[in-house]
Amino acid sequence: MTAIPNRKLIVAIDGPAGAGKSTIAARLARKLGYVNLETGAMYRALALKAIEWDVSFDDEAALAKLASDSRIQLEPTHSGNRVLLDGRDVTARVRETDVTEGASRVSVYPKVREWMVARQQEMGAGGGVVMEGRDIGTKVFPNADVKVFLDADPVVREQRRLQQQNLRGSEAEASVAELRERDRRDRTRAQSPLAAAPDALVLDSTSLSEDEVLQRVEDLVNRKLLQQN
Ligand code: C5P
Repeated sequence: MTAIPNRKLIVAIDGPAGAGKSTIAARLARKLGYVNLETGAMYRALALKAIEWDVSFDDEAALAKLASDSRIQLEPTHSGNRVLLDGRDVTARVRETDVTEGASRVSVYPKVREWMVARQQEMGAGGGVVMEGRDIGTKVFPNADVKVFLDADPVVREQRRLQQQNLRGSEAEASVAELRERDRRDRTRAQSPLAAAPDALVLDSTSLSEDEVLQRVEDLVNRKLLQQN
């Protein structure tokens, strides 16, 4: 009997900031030999361009035009996505506080989201991707083979963030306030608010280890791969 090669799946991982999406998505992609695409980095790249070109975060039309005039590329590497904005490597810059805040603001606009979603659909169309974000299972790939919504108690998410960034005192307070505000914007925006797709596996990582979360997601992927043989 000839072995039928597995079709390469589309795995969608959504959830709020600090729930552990990036780590799980990266580890899963490595294990499967898939590509990990961090869609948040695309909103970050647009926010950076808006800062550099002095485009207001309040101007939806100008931001949408800026996006359509831009080339935003994600290059998966073993240590995360390399982010290219019009050919320039902005990987480190897009993680800074002003860009993080800007990404949260530009992502509320439907016209910006439409452009981003279309690019993300192009990037993932061939399968073999673990795509992470806020709306992958609901909007970018509503027919994704595997959908996971990774959540955690807000206090735990804040603590993890502070540990990652090694922050204390007033810097820690500012970081917590920023995370809460990003959460609020993500959950209340009119288009594609952050929410689990009805058919997503909702995983609360509050009291699960990283390995346990990964195991559950892998189980789901393996069941899907078995079903198609
Ligand atoms: O995931 P990350 O923190 O890099 O995302 C930056 C911002 O981009 C988030 O705060 C969120 O508002 C936005 N985003 C989004 N939809 C996605 C990915 C990110 O709205 N699919």
